[in-house]
Amino acid sequence: MSHDPNCIFCKIAAGTIPSRKVYEDDELIVFHDIAPWAPVHLLIVPKAHIVSHAELTDEHAALAGRMMVLAPKLMREMGVTGGFRTVINTGRDGGQEVMHLHMHVMGGPRPWARG
Ligand code: AMP
Ligand code: ZN
Repeated sequence: MSHDPNCIFCKIAAGTIPSRKVYEDDELIVFHDIAPWAPVHLLIVPKAHIVSHAELTDEHAALAGRMMVLAPKLMREMGVTGGFRTVINTGRDGGQEVMHLHMHVMGGPRPWARG
């Protein structure tokens, strides 16, 4: 599994930077966004250093599917019942700030801070 020693999400996955972790398995880690847009704002992050959605290929199909399937499960566990929003920002024009693939999952009662 590839890692970038300068990448903040690789450091969170390795446990060298703290996070409010809600889920972890061999391939994925999920933690609360440090600047939430919504009452519940999670980031679903592959542990492997994949730069962005643009890098995904057929070999990542199972991993990407697992990220997608995990989102509603975690929202249910967090008590989110009124729906949620998933966002993947990709590249400069997509507004991506952390260059390690992540899926935002936001939910909870509105109004939200953003989004
Ligand atoms: P994006 O614009 O999609 O790259 O979003 C990056 C997200 O990562 C932003 O919503 C940040 O608030 C969040 N973020 C950055 N650093 C941390 C951190 N140390 N712990 C949790 N979330 C973070
Ligand atoms: Zn990384």
